[in-house]
Amino acid sequence: MAKDKQFVSEITPQGEDFSRWYIDVIKKAELMDYSPVRGCIVFRPEGFELWENIQDELDRRFKETGHRNAYFPLFIPESFFQKEKDHVEGFNPELPWVTEAAGEQLEERLAIRPTSETMIGHMYAKWIQSYRDLPVKINQWANVVRWEKRTLPFLRTSEFLWQEGHTAHETEEEAREETMQMLEIYRDFVENFLAMPVIVGQKTPSEKFAGAVDTFSIEAMMKDGRAVQAGTSHYLGTNFAVAFDIKFLDRENNLQHAHTTSWGVSTRLIGALIMVHGDDRGLALPPKVAPTQVVMIPIGPPKTREQVIARVDELYAELKKAGIRVRVDDRADLSPGWKFNEYEMRGVPIRLELGPRDMENGAAVLVSRSSGEKRVVQQSGIVDEVTRLLDEIQREMYDKALRFREEHSKSVDTLDELKAQQEASRGFVEAGWCGSEACERQVKEETGATSRNIPFQPEHEKSTCLVCGAEAKHTVVFARAY
Ligand code: AMP
Repeated sequence: MAKDKQFVSEITPQGEDFSRWYIDVIKKAELMDYSPVRGCIVFRPEGFELWENIQDELDRRFKETGHRNAYFPLFIPESFFQKEKDHVEGFNPELPWVTEAAGEQLEERLAIRPTSETMIGHMYAKWIQSYRDLPVKINQWANVVRWEKRTLPFLRTSEFLWQEGHTAHETEEEAREETMQMLEIYRDFVENFLAMPVIVGQKTPSEKFAGAVDTFSIEAMMKDGRAVQAGTSHYLGTNFAVAFDIKFLDRENNLQHAHTTSWGVSTRLIGALIMVHGDDRGLALPPKVAPTQVVMIPIGPPKTREQVIARVDELYAELKKAGIRVRVDDRADLSPGWKFNEYEMRGVPIRLELGPRDMENGAAVLVSRSSGEKRVVQQSGIVDEVTRLLDEIQREMYDKALRFREEHSKSVDTLDELKAQQEASRGFVEAGWCGSEACERQVKEETGATSRNIPFQPEHEKSTCLVCGAEAKHTVVFARAY
């Protein structure tokens, strides 16, 4: 701990070097540490608790919509990867292999899973025989490995934690409904729980998941104007069902392939959370996901200390009983000022100060991390006051992030305009696209921006392709992405 503190004594301002700022914050707030293995990070308790809160909330939503959890093996036989052509092409470059175990060469190499469509496809083929066995709606919480060339803590790591949902259905219509339902769950979760506004839409064919018919995504804007793909939901058609022989007798007694879906979010969400809400003072966590929602700090001279702490403890018990995640920092050897900075840096949404004068007035001071606003409230209504402020902060953080995105979004008609926009300020750019891969590639090569998705609700429908000028098939959001 002491070493970490020395390593990051000051947080680099965002405006000076955003990447440096990000690393400084996650190290200083003790969310992660680098591991001896390239691209793999250690989730320290402060970071892991964020993931646990994300897990709890998503898991609840998955179960509410009829999904159940299961667990499949980490190792996948090589032959499984040969079965779906696009899947093998897409994932092969990133696969690590186990070739030897207990001193012996394996007869067949085993991949460490990058995703589990193949293993799960193999198992579903055994479990599904009749329409009565459908739908199958399973989710898995697991770690996966993709040997990434370029890595960045949380946002892109070689091993990451995620959930992957895998479902199988009788009809295309039902599978597509599932794909959309899960996308909507992700949107609602990310916007209302993590307070990050997202663009919901469909990936272009070149950006879709290897083996999918259609991929849909939610895309969030970071404070440096770059995009993060925050979650994906895939309609896989019968591609994996054909490859793995997932067949069932339908209601008319005909043998049919099942229609499957998959969908996932990962610990990348933690990186996005930091980059959307953080500022030069450090982390800023939306109340719903914050491991600590309120930190209570007793203040004042030693002679009133005992009395103040006794009252703090009573209020603590009340808040805790109401289900608020609260902690007390009554360490005597650290000044209140030091503590204020510390918890601001750690992103705790509310600081509750209590001193001798507040005691006389039956009052307490609440300070919002996100707005800096100070509010004197009555101790008698502490639970209501804190609950109200937590709600306000949650909403305010979303609104702020949305305003930021709006201020950094533009619509353009030509590649030159896109180039100028990216050089000036990054951000999201809406433009028309004819649908050709060549035009999409040219945008990437000349500007560094990639197509993020084809939004369901574009701000401005565009009529011509920004590259070739032909009629636009779609309006696309382009941005540089993590
Ligand atoms: P995919 O299976 O490629 O659709 O990815 C599912 C989810 O995992 C998406 O939300 C991605 O943003 C996320 N993801 C993909 N690769 C990584 C990585 N290397 N590190 C962290 N998250 C990732």
